[in-house]
Amino acid sequence: MAKKTYSIFGAGAAGLYTAWRLLSGTAKSEGGKAKQLTKGDTLELYDWGKYDFSKEHPGSRAAGARVCTWHYQNDKTKSYLELGGMRYSQWDSKAKNANDGKAPGHRVVTTVISELGLDKYSVPFNESTNPLFYLRTKNMYLNDFSSSNPAPYNVDHYGAAAQPDQGFSIVEGLSVTSTTGPQTRIEWDDFYQHGRITAELPETSVFQKGDLLKDIGYWNLMYDQLGSEGFNYSADGNGYTSNVINWNAAVAFEANNEFTPGNQYNTITTGYSGMFSALFDAVVKLSKEKGVEFKYLPNTRLRSIIAKNKVIHYTYATREHPWKEAGASTTDAAWLAMPRHSIDLVARGSRFDQSDALDVLNHQKVALYLEAAIMQPSYKVGMFFDTPWWLTLARYAPQLTGYVVTDSVIAALKKEGFPEKYLKTLQPIIETPYASSSALIDAVQGLIQERLTIKEEEQLLKAAQRYTIGPSVTDTPIRQVVYFGNNAQDQSGEPIYGILASYDDETFTTFWQELELGPNEQRHIPLEEDFQTLQGPRKVPPKMVKMLRKQLAEIHFGPNSDYSYVPEPKESAYMDWSLPPFNAGYHAWAAHYDIADVQQKIRKPSQLIDGADADIFIVGEAYSNDQAWVEGAYCTAESVLNDFFDIEPIIDNRHYPFICRPTK
Ligand SMILES: Cc1cc2nc3c(=O)[nH]c(=O)nc-3n(C[C@H](O)[C@H](O)[C@H](O)COP(=O)(O)OP(=O)(O)OC[C@H]3O[C@@H](n4cnc5c(N)ncnc54)[C@H](O)[C@@H]3O)c2cc1C
Repeated sequence: MAKKTYSIFGAGAAGLYTAWRLLSGTAKSEGGKAKQLTKGDTLELYDWGKYDFSKEHPGSRAAGARVCTWHYQNDKTKSYLELGGMRYSQWDSKAKNANDGKAPGHRVVTTVISELGLDKYSVPFNESTNPLFYLRTKNMYLNDFSSSNPAPYNVDHYGAAAQPDQGFSIVEGLSVTSTTGPQTRIEWDDFYQHGRITAELPETSVFQKGDLLKDIGYWNLMYDQLGSEGFNYSADGNGYTSNVINWNAAVAFEANNEFTPGNQYNTITTGYSGMFSALFDAVVKLSKEKGVEFKYLPNTRLRSIIAKNKVIHYTYATREHPWKEAGASTTDAAWLAMPRHSIDLVARGSRFDQSDALDVLNHQKVALYLEAAIMQPSYKVGMFFDTPWWLTLARYAPQLTGYVVTDSVIAALKKEGFPEKYLKTLQPIIETPYASSSALIDAVQGLIQERLTIKEEEQLLKAAQRYTIGPSVTDTPIRQVVYFGNNAQDQSGEPIYGILASYDDETFTTFWQELELGPNEQRHIPLEEDFQTLQGPRKVPPKMVKMLRKQLAEIHFGPNSDYSYVPEPKESAYMDWSLPPFNAGYHAWAAHYDIADVQQKIRKPSQLIDGADADIFIVGEAYSNDQAWVEGAYCTAESVLNDFFDIEPIIDNRHYPFICRPTK
């Protein structure tokens, strides 16, 4: 049999996952077996960048592409911050209802972490139940919002006494309530295609009962329903501006639900980049075991791609001269494991091919579908300090501990000998967050109608306590502050405390971008050629540090506090995810698209061209059903392997379709 070559372009989440599953997956049929890589076949993995996968494969920055763990002094034993993706929603695969449509969690990421043996590094990474806000120069904690102490917004419909996320619930209530509307992943898929406004709305409302939500921009809908101030309150108070842009309203309903109770967020203590180094190691090992030649080609950019008589022809360029052809080759199947902007660049390079080849990426329908993903720039700045001043000095300190009783807390208490009759009464408060120990104890005592002993109180608090990462939220350009603290693997050294001093997106990224240069400095290269994201975290210049300290001071010490309230950081660095090759931290579905059809077709774009069939695949977060998450990248990759290579699904996916399924 002729030897096969498969080529993956992009060594981020989707590309590494594809390589790993091509080598580790089980074929379902004879046809599938014939497509599997066997002894003597070749697997190529290209990337424009060069990531630090291992001692044998070092690189210019940590692994993971849009995930990038940054350690203090670049020393892996020291504290770290995540300057890209940072956490996942843990799936309890052993739970009774683990495989039904309602069980929460990122099932594929959790499975990968477990199969790579990284479970032992997985730790909780949750949001505070009583976060700190600094909105329109007012410092307040969530639990203090009340009618006598409202947020400083002139909100008429629901009042600034409510939580800012209340705006999301009001808009979602036009079609979905706790008892009506989609509950499972499959039902949500249907909703993305057919969900309509079901509430009766006054004639004054722009949008009306019966309108298809997929054809409405979310910003348009929020403005219509909440008014200008209601919109601003939700937009400012949510922290992520990307959540309130004019994207597909049907998808926004579900995505903005993501912080609902039941979600247990986790990360890995080696840094999230650790998952990608482990995947790379697994690919190297498996290819050796199988006798498949694994060619890793970093610093090499896919420049153009077309198909001729089922053979895929491509050209590539070097990292040094990314637009200039450095060579050409062919392959049997190609994966573009990259986001929209990177694909647009490859399309540009392919456009000038003069032959009568199939130029898949530039076909009008493909180009239209590629535009279905809106690019969302984002920016993160990390700072390391020798003191956790936000806890020890701040007037408004973030509340980083909270309490939640979950099924696993009940199980732990049972083991400790906590009275069984009490445990039976705790059901009504399962998954209810409490910001203080006294609030939890009051709630429990209210249910059991007795006083807990000191020992029982201690047992309860220990089991239910969860450490959180904040975030604190503000309408100033730092937008969100995330507290990592002293998380060094080796706790015996000098303690160093890290925070994300700014986690911002959309237009706020340009606030910081201008501060990258001093007042007497000019840019020497166009932004289109600034590949900072591939080079790694870049040092923050002094004026930007001062601006960050000023804004950190306001949120933690009150309005008009000057920058000197916040100590000078030991080290600071930023990642600007508005830069190429990504031009987006994450993506969002545009309105006026049937996202099931886009997801099904764009993964093999030749499906959109009459009579064409080319084994060029697009995988990754950008065109997934879980945008903004690594889960989306893995799920699209898995769907391609299941449906075009006949590989058994990695998990039971009967109630967990990896990509959106079309429904009537
Ligand atoms: C600030 C931020 C916060 C986030 N938070 C989270 C989070 O908490 N949890 C979570 O799960 N996800 C999070 N995400 C999203 C997550 O990081 C992404 O969804 C995921 O990493 C995307 O993986 P991917 O494989 O689709 O693409 P990428 O990670 O973008 O990988 C694409 C790769 O393709 C390469 N490439 C591009 N063009 C070419 C070319 N022409 N030739 C060869 N190679 C090329 C790039 O160099 C890159 O390595 C966050 C992202 C950001 C930026």
